[in-house]
Parts: sequence; C-alpha cells; structure tokens
Amino acid sequence: MGEVRPIVRVGDPVLHRPCEPVTGFDGELAALVADMFASMYAAEGVGLAANQIGVPLRVFVYDCQDADGRPHKGVVVNPALELPGLGERRLDAGDEGCLSVPGQYAPLPRADRATVRGFDAEGEPVVVEGTGLLARCLQHETDHLDGHLYIDRLPAKRRKQVLAAYEESTKADKAPL
Ligand SMILES: [Zn+2]
Repeated sequence: MGEVRPIVRVGDPVLHRPCEPVTGFDGELAALVADMFASMYAAEGVGLAANQIGVPLRVFVYDCQDADGRPHKGVVVNPALELPGLGERRLDAGDEGCLSVPGQYAPLPRADRATVRGFDAEGEPVVVEGTGLLARCLQHETDHLDGHLYIDRLPAKRRKQVLAAYEESTKADKAPL
C-alpha cells in the first residue's frame, strides 16, 4: 500500500519544468508508483503525474474511462505520446481540470484519441490507446511530465481567469469561519 502524499499546486517550480527519464526499474520506482496511486485516489483524481507529488521523474498513473465507459487503470514510465495526424484528428471540446489547480475547470479542445508508448513499473513495454476521457488524460499527464499544465494551453485571458478564481478560492480556504 502506498502512502498518500500532498499534491503540489500551480506555481511550484517542479510543475513547470520537464521531468527526467526513469533509468532504474527498482523497488524505489515501485514505491513511488504505489504512492502515486494512493495520492490519486485520496484526491479523487483520474490521473496523476509524479511531479504532482514533487518527484521530477517521467511517470504517470491513471484510472479512468474511455469513450465507451470502459475503465482503464495503469502506470506509464517514460511515456511518448502519439496523436492522430492533423488531417485525421477530431477534437473533443470537453472541460478539463487538474488536481494542481483544484476546483477549477475550463473547456479545452483535445484530440479525441491518443496513444502512449512507454514501460510499466517492471520495465516491460506498454502501449495505452485511449478515447474520450482516457485520451484527454493521456495528453494531460504527458503534458505534466513536459512541464506544462492544461491552463498553459488556454487562451491567455481564460488562463488568467482560471488562476484568479483559484487564488480567490485559496483565500477563502484560509478565511476564519
Ligand atoms: Zn493535472
């Protein structure tokens, strides 16, 4: 069983720079993955990148449904994202949110299918093909490992609105009742 670790919030440098590739598939990695699953479930997320718990390594976990409502769960180490070519790409304009910008959502068009190639925690190759929410999740988590948040993909004005609303909500958290 993993340990629940605090989720890092927007503004922390670990979220805003690229993560390093994993080089050792050892017990330390297995422990990290266990902590990531525990932290994701505690925060009620459908995906989590390692830098969201402060570890700058290219690892993400996910547990979410595809476009047909089928559940998918797993870990990808050193992921490489593949999207359909521009001519074949269909966009899904759904809302997106992030555990590192809690409480906020904004519409963000993403490719409606995506493939990630990488490795599992034992170093075996894995391929994850996703549609619907899973496709969005694979793109969102790979972005995290590249040092990008979904809000970085929003129009500047919308990004500012989301951040202002988030800042406002953190003040409210601290207000005495
Ligand atoms: Zn996120």
